[in-house]
Amino acid sequence: MTAKRLTIALAGNPNSGKTTIFNNITGTRQKVGNWPGVTVEKKEGLIHYRGYDLRVVDLPGTYSLTPYSIEEIVARNFILDQSPDVVIDIIDASNLERSLYLATQLCELDCKVLFALNMADLASSRGSKIDGSKLSELLEVPVTFTVGNKNEGIDILLEMAVELAESEMPDRSKRRVRYSKDIETAIEKLQQDFARHPEARVPYNERWTAIKLLEDDKIVKQRIVEKTGGEARRILDLTASLREHLRDRFDEEPEIVTTDERYGFIAGIVREVQTNTTRQRIDISRNIDLVLTNRFVGFPIFVFFIWAMFQLTFTLGEYPMEAIDALIGWFSSSLGSLLPDSLFKSLLLDGMVAGVGSVIIFLPNILILFFCIALFEDTGYMSRSAFLMDKIMHLIGLHGKSFIPMLMGFGCNVPAIMASRTLESEKDRILTILITPFMSCSAKLPVYIALAGTFFGGRAGSVIFAVYLTGIVLSMITGRIFRSTLLRGADAPFVMELPPYRVPMFKSLLIHMWDRSKIFLRKMGGIILIGSVVIWCLSSFPQNVPLTRDYDAEAAQVKTAYETKLQAAEPAGRLLIEKERDEALQVLDRDRRAEQTEGSLMGWIGKAMAPLFAPLGIDWRGGVALVSGFVAKEIVVSTLGVLHAVDGDERSEALRTALKASGMTPLAALSMMVFVLLYLPCLATVTAIRRETGSLKWMFFSIFYSTSVAWLMAFVVYQAGRLLGFA
Ligand code: GDP
Ligand code: MG
Repeated sequence: MTAKRLTIALAGNPNSGKTTIFNNITGTRQKVGNWPGVTVEKKEGLIHYRGYDLRVVDLPGTYSLTPYSIEEIVARNFILDQSPDVVIDIIDASNLERSLYLATQLCELDCKVLFALNMADLASSRGSKIDGSKLSELLEVPVTFTVGNKNEGIDILLEMAVELAESEMPDRSKRRVRYSKDIETAIEKLQQDFARHPEARVPYNERWTAIKLLEDDKIVKQRIVEKTGGEARRILDLTASLREHLRDRFDEEPEIVTTDERYGFIAGIVREVQTNTTRQRIDISRNIDLVLTNRFVGFPIFVFFIWAMFQLTFTLGEYPMEAIDALIGWFSSSLGSLLPDSLFKSLLLDGMVAGVGSVIIFLPNILILFFCIALFEDTGYMSRSAFLMDKIMHLIGLHGKSFIPMLMGFGCNVPAIMASRTLESEKDRILTILITPFMSCSAKLPVYIALAGTFFGGRAGSVIFAVYLTGIVLSMITGRIFRSTLLRGADAPFVMELPPYRVPMFKSLLIHMWDRSKIFLRKMGGIILIGSVVIWCLSSFPQNVPLTRDYDAEAAQVKTAYETKLQAAEPAGRLLIEKERDEALQVLDRDRRAEQTEGSLMGWIGKAMAPLFAPLGIDWRGGVALVSGFVAKEIVVSTLGVLHAVDGDERSEALRTALKASGMTPLAALSMMVFVLLYLPCLATVTAIRRETGSLKWMFFSIFYSTSVAWLMAFVVYQAGRLLGFA
């Protein structure tokens, strides 16, 4: 008994690995020749496989089955005329979309097709995963995976090929490309014509023939003329009129329309079967970047995001702020009523609780700001902002990457300075660290609110904005100067990485937010606590300051006066009277504290330094407040409060009244704001500078430089303002 003979053709795109697989299958039993009449190499091999004689043919590599190139004609004619038992389409899995064009065309022919998804190793290393069984289901074609150069999956491939050869011809009519209505109608009209004239005996599958005729396929037309004899005239006339009609409908050659629609069908398949972990993300990112890093709209969008970030930080932060304020108030008063009056109680309440409390109130702002920054970072937008800012940053002699620390500086300089670690060049890093403190950090805001709110009323917002802007401009000037003097050198060229956008994980956002906020909290537990105690000590000692009034006697008088009032009053009115009495006592207490502070160590220091601040229009209290701000900028307002003997809250009416009463002018307030903006960074920042530059030299330089600039700028503002006749 002779073995059954099966012909297996290998089709596929050039370089899909056909020859490799052909060699794997046939080994040395190959016959190399030319395809008849053309100089295209033909490889054939004969092997015995499980009782079959397999004739394996390596078809020329093609991308399509149109009759335009010799390779395509050879491949197609072989399939059409030799009717191989099975056509194995070697698909380059790492180029699925391109490969499927040929694959879907093979499916339209009347032949048994098997897909070998080759280069599966390359595909997966590029992060793409193909669902073979889904592809098989969608096109009703058996699918298997191979790695040609490692001879993997070849056995299964052969097994499937034999099995397919022995099976029934599948009915793929439901699974093939569906064209748009006009084309389908035209196809149908031709098919009806073939059916009405069975004597014509159309050589190939009727649907396929109809499609090819509509595409004006020269070879198919020629075959029709050869095979159908007298019927050809009619068929070609009908075809011509249908083509005319389609051209009219689409304003395009029908073959272009069908090609487009095939690609549409393929795109749909790819979407179904391929999950691209990397590629897809990169493609999506590229599309998002078309907008977000666009030359025209990219920058406005960026500015909008920054604006939204600040809006969110300060408006949303307002709500928990009030709650925290109330909580601290409650804590302080309940602690106050528990403890007997003593120096210790004063230290605890006026020093520690008040000091830490005035800072912890910003925790919501800080949390929101850092959440936004984490969002920018985790989504990948932060690198885009660096990209957008690159041109502007080059004006300072830095590049876009330095913008990230600067942006973070608006929140808090400590993480900002730590963020400069990402810069490769040391000079860039130091330069960035030196200019970052000019980005007005969120702790300085209460000072602006207190001063601008008091002296500029409705224009406070614009004034504060101008202050922020001044900081940015000065950082740029500083950058320019240092780049051409101390830190000379070209900005190192570097690659701006644009990682793909990601949907951030909420948990990691919270972790990033928390990591940075921890620094802020630690600052409160340590430096600010100590600072508050030091300031309390300085303002509480010496204890026995000679007072101009006998406050105890006055307090006793107030008490007795209200005692009689209370007895005379109706029960309903008592509450009001008690409130009045408490207020009167508070005023007395404040006046006493003000006098005490003035006579305290702090008062002495302030007065000793007064000549330094006088040219800036800042009185001794302002001077002391500024000095206390070295601990943390948040303390400036509360110190002002202590020195003016009022509540140290930036929105407090009492502080406003007191500031105005102290003889401060709007110009002096502006000068003080400029000074606060620019002068020495807070203790925590200074520590960070020391750590990140690794040198005391740069730390002291930063302190000296920023304070000099602050003094000079405040001086210019105040003196120029006076010359120009503002207050
Ligand atoms: P043909 O043009 O379709 O005949 O492709 P070839 O068989 O000549 O293969 C082209 C290149 O792809 C060769 O260098 C092969 O070694 C390589 N190749 C074939 N199959 C695989 C595969 O599964 N994985 C990888 N990584 N390379 C392959
Ligand atoms: Mg080859």
